[in-house]
Amino acid sequence: MALQSNYLDWREQIPVQESYDVIVAGGGLSGVAAALSAARMGRKVLLLERSAMLGGLATQGLVNLWVPLCNGRGRQIIKGMAEELLRLSIRYGFDTLPEEWRNGEPAQPTKVRYTTNFSIGIFALSLLEILKENQVTLCYDAVASQPVMEKGHCRGVIVQSKSGRGFYPCSVVVDATGDADLLARAQVPCFVGGNYFTTYGEGIDVEHCREVARTGKIHDAYYWMMGGTANLYGKNHPEGMPLFHGTTLEGVNEFLQTNQQALLDGLKAQDRNKRDLHLLPGMAQMRTTRCIEGNHTLTTADQYRHFSDSVGAICDFDQRDVLYEVPYGTLYHPAFDNFLTCGRSASAQGYAWDVLRVIPPAVLTGQAAGVAAALAAEGGVGTPEVDVGKLQERLTQTGVIIHFEDGWVPTQPKEDSDAHMESHL
Ligand SMILES: Cc1cc2nc3c(=O)[nH]c(=O)nc-3n(C[C@H](O)[C@H](O)[C@H](O)COP(=O)(O)OP(=O)(O)OC[C@H]3O[C@@H](n4cnc5c(N)ncnc54)[C@H](O)[C@@H]3O)c2cc1C
Repeated sequence: MALQSNYLDWREQIPVQESYDVIVAGGGLSGVAAALSAARMGRKVLLLERSAMLGGLATQGLVNLWVPLCNGRGRQIIKGMAEELLRLSIRYGFDTLPEEWRNGEPAQPTKVRYTTNFSIGIFALSLLEILKENQVTLCYDAVASQPVMEKGHCRGVIVQSKSGRGFYPCSVVVDATGDADLLARAQVPCFVGGNYFTTYGEGIDVEHCREVARTGKIHDAYYWMMGGTANLYGKNHPEGMPLFHGTTLEGVNEFLQTNQQALLDGLKAQDRNKRDLHLLPGMAQMRTTRCIEGNHTLTTADQYRHFSDSVGAICDFDQRDVLYEVPYGTLYHPAFDNFLTCGRSASAQGYAWDVLRVIPPAVLTGQAAGVAAALAAEGGVGTPEVDVGKLQERLTQTGVIIHFEDGWVPTQPKEDSDAHMESHL
């Protein structure tokens, strides 16, 4: 061991563990989708999750709402595993699904959108069950800490756990950490995002319990207790407060501790016997932390554009009619031959990053990354060279709409097309 200037030069022998075809780092919804789809193609898959539950922001982060899977005119745009996991999320727990969508795509056009809340705890448990049914090896409490690189090739991942450090060799790595942590450590070029002052915990109070007694619906018991109250567009962000960044220890702590103090301050004056803060988010509720500079970076200029390497069509959650296709190029950097990403760290900028990172598109890109990883591992080809035709064929078999139909693109602006919901997302 040598201490040179500000660096500790530390060598250690790390035990080599079992090898896998595909390692997925991060058990948020994009990581679960990636692991499931690679396993369904017969690959040996290890899913690493640093916390003690599955679902990431959607569960630990208390974001228990699927934004719309439809275009706001009654046409379902996002299908495949996003549809499967949405239905799983409400199989054993409550839902707030509109009647129009209860049994699938409505026969008549409707402006009611296909969206639902779900039970955080019950969905997290259901995710565990489906992973087990599909023979995914899951390790909770396991931090994927370091990719072991040989130029642009990743030989495997060093994992930090209660057992110490272990090296897991693999053919393909999918970074679904939401923050592109592994990819950034492998020197993949990345964009960094800024975050407004927002957090909420789940509250319960006597008034809401009375409402439950009236409606008979347990979902009515919960409401949000806010710390920072900024919305997606920055409304309510305190003047002069810098944006928060989620890529350093200091940045994450600044965000968490400032928001947690604001949450406590907000409830101090309330009657302590009439309400409770029964759930605090188990991870920083940051929207955009880091994404890769992929082979293609999605922007709003790509609205209504067809891509030959599309892995699926998606819709804007806030604006009716607005459609995109997600190119496979958003999931990899061409100089790295066995690395993929998905979810919040798929390549996008500006508002298109917001459209791509939310739950249904995150599941779509996770599913695509899982299939691509399986194809690469099976065929011994690099992830940038994966046969896109086979990838699309496999995704289509599960119901994914690869290309939106030109008939779904509005020919002239409809007056209600760009009405923003001013959402919190
Ligand atoms: C305030 C807020 C409100 C939102 N509201 C909505 C909404 O209403 N509807 C909607 O659809 N979307 C919403 N979103 C967006 C949505 O929740 C996320 O973008 C989506 O869930 C992202 O999923 P993901 O799998 O990419 O990442 P994440 O959910 O961030 O999952 C990453 C997972 O990786 C794990 N992890 C991280 N690092 C490591 C590591 N090194 N090793 C092992 N595990 C690791 C984490 O613990 C986590 O489980 C909101 C987001 C925020 C922040």
